[in-house]
Amino acid sequence: MTTAIIFDMDGVLVDISRSLNQAIIGSAKEYCRLRGKKAQFSPQDIQRIKNLPGHNDDWKVAARLASDALGVAVPVGDVADGTSLKHLFEERYLGVRLFTRFYGSRPKRAFPGLIDDEPLLAEKAVLERLRADHPLAIFTGRPRDQALYALDRLGITDLFSAIITRNDVKEGKPSPEGLLRLHELMGFETAYYLGDNAQDDMLAAKAANEIIGNSIVAVGVIPPACPDPDALTELFMKNGAETVLEKADQILDLL
Ligand SMILES: [Mg+2]
Repeated sequence: MTTAIIFDMDGVLVDISRSLNQAIIGSAKEYCRLRGKKAQFSPQDIQRIKNLPGHNDDWKVAARLASDALGVAVPVGDVADGTSLKHLFEERYLGVRLFTRFYGSRPKRAFPGLIDDEPLLAEKAVLERLRADHPLAIFTGRPRDQALYALDRLGITDLFSAIITRNDVKEGKPSPEGLLRLHELMGFETAYYLGDNAQDDMLAAKAANEIIGNSIVAVGVIPPACPDPDALTELFMKNGAETVLEKADQILDLL
């Protein structure tokens, strides 16, 4: 029987505590500053927003933080607009070189790019061991170019037989679309899905199971530097996680 292992990327395979999380804080702060408001945000604020349904997307998390501080709705906006939340986010996260490569124009402000400070969270040897017996896949909300850049940088792209990004689906998580695509592509009988978002990752698995008949086991993974692991564990269990791991590597013990 084929048992596939599907990984969410950020917070599960890749440590984003110094990259995407800093881009969220930096862009939300700058968005507020450009509109005359001094604001401070912390990792606790990020976790609070990510525990709300529909807030797995980092651009949306940054927009929500700015929106709460300014008291008005803040759109993610268009990257072509130099003062949009998305532009402020991407120029910090990607830096000049990658921003220019991915968007075809230079960012308004020059940053070195936080994307190059993303350690691998799982041991590569463990992933290779898993790969020997199971097809591995990724279901991420990242744009394809950003997902592949990070995986190539970590030297693990070839371990995955399928990679579904935000470019490959019409609807992001918590829609089950990406998991259903993987089911179709890989033809697995059962799969583990490891995610660090207690709402969108867990609910995507639940919704997929309603369609393909309980073939996906949802597993919560506590991301690094999580401000309140106990509260997150509780939310994982409430939303259908079979179990909660401290590190993706521990999946080995479940197989
Ligand atoms: Mg994640």
